[in-house]
Amino acid sequence: MKTASKADELKPHEQVNFYFSKAADTLDLGARERMILTTPFREMKVEIPLRRDSGEWESFVGFRVQHDCSRGPCKGGIRYHPEADEDHVKALASLMTWKTAVADIPYGGAKGGIQCDPSQMSRRELELLTRGFVDRIGPIIGVDVDIPAPDMNTNAEMMGWFMDQYSLRHGYSPGVVTGKPVALGGSYGREEATGRGVMLVTKKACEARQISLKGARIVVQGFGNVGSHAARFLHQQGARIVAVSDVHGAIARREGLDLEHLLAHVAKSGTVTGFSEAQEIAPSELFSVDCEVFIPAAVDGVLNERTAPALKAQIVVEGANAPTTPEADAFLSQGDVLIVPDILANAGGVIVSYFEWVQNKQALRWSEDKVNARLEEYLLRAYSNVENASSQHSTSLRHGAFILAVKRVLEASKLRWMT
Ligand code: NAD
Repeated sequence: MKTASKADELKPHEQVNFYFSKAADTLDLGARERMILTTPFREMKVEIPLRRDSGEWESFVGFRVQHDCSRGPCKGGIRYHPEADEDHVKALASLMTWKTAVADIPYGGAKGGIQCDPSQMSRRELELLTRGFVDRIGPIIGVDVDIPAPDMNTNAEMMGWFMDQYSLRHGYSPGVVTGKPVALGGSYGREEATGRGVMLVTKKACEARQISLKGARIVVQGFGNVGSHAARFLHQQGARIVAVSDVHGAIARREGLDLEHLLAHVAKSGTVTGFSEAQEIAPSELFSVDCEVFIPAAVDGVLNERTAPALKAQIVVEGANAPTTPEADAFLSQGDVLIVPDILANAGGVIVSYFEWVQNKQALRWSEDKVNARLEEYLLRAYSNVENASSQHSTSLRHGAFILAVKRVLEASKLRWMT
């Protein structure tokens, strides 16, 4: 295995396996068990031909990776991004295996992605691309087999197209995908579930560090589904959101941003930049803004050997998947920064996706209050299980979370097929 100092050079899926290997060392797993737990069950690469609005044909490449299904059907989002390559999707699929195990919901892990730039595509093109992808991966997904969901640059409307396309061929199947519009069998509370979960774990982390959330200064990188809802919920708890960013730029206000005004500005302009009540800063300055909590909620690898030394925060809550490289993780942990790892911090989304699937299977609907109450129950139980695992092994929350997850997946695998 590569050393921690070389860890930033690892490919995304090697980075996830770096954390897995540490847990496997602690659990004293043999080579056979490690191989079975890290190798994806199934990987599919597809071509999606699309006639662009210009009349030209273009071909897009998509992936669906099913990493593990020993604890239940595979589960994981679909990302539309120019960098959604095979290795990224594989890394994100394995993170889903560990995340669903930490959350203790009856799923395995999967992920999908299409290499494209959705900002350069019309709504019609995105609909055809989504429907084409469903047809291509159709043979390997299903209500009890593999259930996709939204991720970066995909949303409820696209999940509606997804459900419709699958249902055209297989009969009405709302449970084949989660994160759908409420009118199409989506769950109340799903849209904001990941951000709500980020708020709940931030509260717990602040308690652990004896920081009052009321008045705490928070920086959020990424202002999409996860970042904007997390910021809004934390603001409602009395925290001060002192800086935020998106792909277009970053803004800051020492006294705290007015979230309602900012959300209205973003709804109108599509970006946090140009907000008259804040000062524009360079995106790289975001890492050195004075704060108690830093929340990466955009892309992976942003906390790395270059950015981590500038960080002022005492707590990092990983809203995004894999935002911290192993080298930055070691550096920050040595500096006593409390990191709430992705497989716990952003599990709120998949927990409410699970509730959506349960509601679809039972053909009934839960109230929003019930969804939010059960999300809190599942996530706080996961948090305390992870805390217990890390204190038992005198280690970080990340290592504790991986130990817990690997143990659960291994137990199910042994009971099912590793006899
Ligand atoms: P999104 O597409 O809704 O929003 C992404 C945001 O990040 C946008 O504001 C975008 O402008 C910004 N962004 C993109 N590149 C950036 C960069 N280089 N610097 C700063 N900002 C940048 O996506 P999302 O659903 O909010 O997902 C964000 C992250 O959270 C991803 O890592 C995703 O895998 C993870 N996640 C999402 C969910 C979910 O339910 N949506 C659940 C768990 C984890």
